[in-house]
Amino acid sequence: MEELTLQLIPENDPKLKEPCEPWDFKLDGDPTELIKAMTKVMFNPNHPGIGLAAPQCGVMKNILIMGTDEKLMAFINPQVDELKGEKELFLEGCLSYPDLWLHVPRQPECVVSYQQIDGEVIKEKHLEGIQARVFLHEYDHLLGVTFEERVQSKLSLELAKKRRAKKKRQVAKMAKRLSKVSSPT
Ligand SMILES: [Zn+2]
Repeated sequence: MEELTLQLIPENDPKLKEPCEPWDFKLDGDPTELIKAMTKVMFNPNHPGIGLAAPQCGVMKNILIMGTDEKLMAFINPQVDELKGEKELFLEGCLSYPDLWLHVPRQPECVVSYQQIDGEVIKEKHLEGIQARVFLHEYDHLLGVTFEERVQSKLSLELAKKRRAKKKRQVAKMAKRLSKVSSPT
């Protein structure tokens, strides 16, 4: 069987704003290959991340992964059953929005339920700190909500986008200068 390969969809793809469908183990089968392909996208050395939701690759299913090489966690059909604590601001990035960094308020703890890769139901898992942060960001993707929509003010989003555009222009300028330097005389 040919290996499944996935790619990130661009940030203006309307799919990023659409809710996903549950993964049906009977109809959809074993999600192992899909999760492997998602892992490759997440660990791509050109843009490594610590979390990824299936819809970011255009797969409209309730699956998210997070973690590192050593410890990868896959959540199939996850649900947030409880959110705890006062919202805290934290700087977030997103593989779907290269170079955009936003301060996003989220609660610091959550209790979630989900299915494992083998379909087993986990009824209660507590997440806190960076795990809760990443989980809630990725879970939002499954609902069709991106971190742009979670920022406190439109102004801070606009400023962050301006900073990104400026950085892009600077990089383009530098690349132009470099190409002049390296061109043969
Ligand atoms: Zn994201």
